[in-house]
Amino acid sequence: MAKTKKAKSEFVLVAAHQLKTPLSALKWIFKILLEGEVGELTSEQQNLLMKGYEANENMITLVNDLLKVAQLEKGKKVYEFKKCDFKEVIKKSVSLFSEIAAKKKIEIEAILPKEETMILCDSSLLQMAISNFIANAINYSFEGGKVTVGVAKEEDRLKFCVEDRGIGIPLPQQKKIFSKFFRGDNVVRLQIAGSGLGLYITRRIIEDHGGKVWFESQENKGSRFYFNIPLTK
Ligand code: ADP
Repeated sequence: MAKTKKAKSEFVLVAAHQLKTPLSALKWIFKILLEGEVGELTSEQQNLLMKGYEANENMITLVNDLLKVAQLEKGKKVYEFKKCDFKEVIKKSVSLFSEIAAKKKIEIEAILPKEETMILCDSSLLQMAISNFIANAINYSFEGGKVTVGVAKEEDRLKFCVEDRGIGIPLPQQKKIFSKFFRGDNVVRLQIAGSGLGLYITRRIIEDHGGKVWFESQENKGSRFYFNIPLTK
């Protein structure tokens, strides 16, 4: 890695680390106030504090994403590759989202193959990548929608797909989708929170596993995000 790029990643890593402590202090202060531990609140006070709590939560997500980017940009040393079952990684990722999906009345379904699905991966980082795709599919779906996760064997690779019927990505912006901090005009207009770092991180993780990511999307119709990953014997 070029020296300046390395120094930049190091700076982001240190800055993000420094931000973590005051942000978690703020989180607890908001929580104590919201739970009425230091006195009862009027509904107006409760609403304002809730907005503060949510803004702080968004900042925590952003800082955590920045930390992940900086760590990944440091090089492949972050990965611990082991043989594991892809189906298990998918099942785990899907189960993490059952509650969030239910809250939005979204049905989430996983279609998995019968064949063996052994791969060489860092299961926690791969799970992070898969979770980013699923989180987006839910986050950018309309209430009452459906999200389908599918895995299929294709020659010496496994192909993953997550499909939603949500807001989609505006066509003129589709080429920027995997860039750092990209957010679609439609999601900004709808004020849906996000950092614009998830897909950048996700692509990086998949490519570091020898895979490839791609997608197709139509505004207000939905999106399908795909990746493939090599099978191992
Ligand atoms: P975030 O979701 O935090 O904004 P991502 O990097 O995961 O960041 O996604 C970048 C942008 O790509 C999103 O802000 C959104 O505009 C668009 N996007 C990603 N996934 C979807 C999806 N399933 N449906 C519609 N838009 C999406």
